[in-house]
Amino acid sequence: MKPYFTDFFGNAASQHSLGFQSAQAIEKARAQIASAIHCQEKEIYFTSGATESINLVIRGLWQSYGSQKNHFITSSVEHKAVLETYEAIEKQGAKITILPVNSEGFLEPETLQSAITEDTLLVSVIYANNEVGSINDLERLAKITKEKGSLFFTDAVQALGKVELNLEKIPGDFLCLSSHKFYGPKGAGILYIREQKPRLRLQAQLTGGGHEKGLRSGTLNVPAIVGMGEAAEICTQKLNDEINDMRKKRDYLQKKIEQNLMAQNISFQINGPKDLDRKLPHNLNLSIDRLQLSEFQKHLPFVAFSTGSACSSASAKPSYVLTAIGLDDDKAKSTVRFSVGRFTSFEELDAASDAIGQAISASRIPDIL
Ligand code: PLP
Repeated sequence: MKPYFTDFFGNAASQHSLGFQSAQAIEKARAQIASAIHCQEKEIYFTSGATESINLVIRGLWQSYGSQKNHFITSSVEHKAVLETYEAIEKQGAKITILPVNSEGFLEPETLQSAITEDTLLVSVIYANNEVGSINDLERLAKITKEKGSLFFTDAVQALGKVELNLEKIPGDFLCLSSHKFYGPKGAGILYIREQKPRLRLQAQLTGGGHEKGLRSGTLNVPAIVGMGEAAEICTQKLNDEINDMRKKRDYLQKKIEQNLMAQNISFQINGPKDLDRKLPHNLNLSIDRLQLSEFQKHLPFVAFSTGSACSSASAKPSYVLTAIGLDDDKAKSTVRFSVGRFTSFEELDAASDAIGQAISASRIPDIL
């Protein structure tokens, strides 16, 4: 990325040699991303991230085709960028169906099958869930949708680099990615739009200079896009090794935490899919009996982890994803998520699990008999 901040600082839309250098770098990144997800380069549109891509698909389709078909289907465990965008178009007259998921976080194909109607314009389903790690059967869900004559969109933000992502096998129309979820820089993302006849028309949400074939005006962030392209190439080249590596680290951490909890006689449950082939390899989401999250956070300052609630105050709402998979409020509010990654070492896992064990025993609501 560095040279694109300094030596090659041209605007990729400028019609002079500096601009052409940047445009070339953009096209290289487009090719790297297309190859990572098995599609054509012309099907990739650069955006500022997944939130923007999601808004562009949902609002763009609603504005282009809403007068012909006005029904949209999604699942209850989508990211807020999807759910809030649906809420916004619902206020403008769209009909939204939010489908339940099962206790492992999967949208069952039969549930989708029975919800699609002649009026369904778009079905959007998260590829892999960010909280509990469930990897949906995208091939099947997309196939059902297409057979019923609707469009299919997947938020694949959590999938690239963790799952084999192949658009030759998944008959979807739209897909979004976010660079920082696969070790690229923040503030860059893509929207994939399948080339087909008749061509899908999305109403642009940002108007202006007509960049990205008129779909997303605005000067491209060249260094970030270069970094995103490179990151996509790295994570797909090493995919199988990385999946195995992350699983090993996650399983190691899980085992150590479980041993600690059992030694202290504390009950717990691991959330998400039981079949590890259908679970994100880096995800460990667990509910610990009577864990007080605000205390736990205080006792674990140097481990970066996520909680199952929107914030750590006592009145915090539990995560809607955990509620959707059937956890009651108490359980959802005593849930934590740890993730491992490419650069996590076993020494760090040892240190973290020791600290986690100590923090748990110091952070539980006392048993009042
Ligand atoms: N979708 C999922 C599943 C995510 O995890 C995220 C980010 O956390 C987003 C969408 C939004 O991505 P961005 O922050 O790039 O807009």
